Amino acid sequence: MTFNVTSKTFNLNTGDKIPAIGLGTWQSKPNEVANAVEIALHKGYRHIDTAHGYRNEIEVGAGIRASSVPRNEIWLTTKLDNTWHHRVAAGIDSSLENLGTDYVDLYLMHWPSSTDPDDLKKHLPDWNFVKTWQEMQKLVGTGKVRNIGVSNFGIKNLEILLNDPSTKIIPAVNQIELHPNNPSPKLVAYNTSKGIHSTGYSCLGSTNSPLYKDKTLLGIAAAKGKTPQQVLLAWGHQKGWSVIPKSVNKDRIEKNFELDGWELTPDEIQKLDNLPDRFKVCTDAWLPVRVFFGEDE
Ligand code: NDP
Repeated sequence: MTFNVTSKTFNLNTGDKIPAIGLGTWQSKPNEVANAVEIALHKGYRHIDTAHGYRNEIEVGAGIRASSVPRNEIWLTTKLDNTWHHRVAAGIDSSLENLGTDYVDLYLMHWPSSTDPDDLKKHLPDWNFVKTWQEMQKLVGTGKVRNIGVSNFGIKNLEILLNDPSTKIIPAVNQIELHPNNPSPKLVAYNTSKGIHSTGYSCLGSTNSPLYKDKTLLGIAAAKGKTPQQVLLAWGHQKGWSVIPKSVNKDRIEKNFELDGWELTPDEIQKLDNLPDRFKVCTDAWLPVRVFFGEDE
């Protein structure tokens, strides 16, 4: 059986299909990210992940245009920043203007935290993420967003959102931290049970990933003649979520996309499922409210 991962997509609850592999752009600086996006699109990536908060949307848009790949062949995700929760309509307009495009394929609420733009340590007094979602729902049908979703929602906050009578649209995606040292099986299962696709961020373990010292991972990579990063990406998409590895390095961007024609065995997946170490790249310590309430919650 031949595995064609690079053309693989996952079905969303809206009927759209999200490509299994995308290019992440957090911490990709404005002077390097346009080039990274162009290299990725030339290699065959058709999914780019950015955010208003990454302050690089303008260059991501420039990279897309420089590639000459038609806009309608690319899945483009961006995210509503925490300080824009009470002005969602302006938030999407700002992102579209930055990106130089008429629409995004996926618009995510970046965090379930409605932060006061005048004081980042404060939560907006008369606002919450349910109200933000009400505003995001209004974007559907405007032509500006094809799908709406959330990010950094654990089970507790998803239940609040899904149980609110104002929630008419189930998020298409929940983008969450997923790697073998933060596997969140209950949260992934919860997403799936509600028809929400999971996208795994920090899927390589992010900057200076501790995973690269993991002997089990290195052993599997050596045995298969693959890089540890390729093994981590295979683990994610074989478990059923899309992955969005970030790189600004040509060789790494290309290698991270060389995933066709091989797969991990059930035994290899199980070994990675059972790595004992735990770490989380993104915590909620910098936010005015708690959003994580223990593993998966
Ligand atoms: P990743 O797990 O993608 O790791 C990125 C790091 O790995 C970078 O330092 C990169 O360096 C390095 N790297 C990439 N490929 C290789 C390779 N083949 N060999 C060695 N090193 C490599 O981390 P991120 O935290 O960036 O997560 C991925 C994406 O997920 C983000 O870019 C962003 O788009 C999204 N994200 C979303 C969040 C959210 O709140 N919704 C939070 C965090 C991330 P280099 O660039 O130098 O190659």
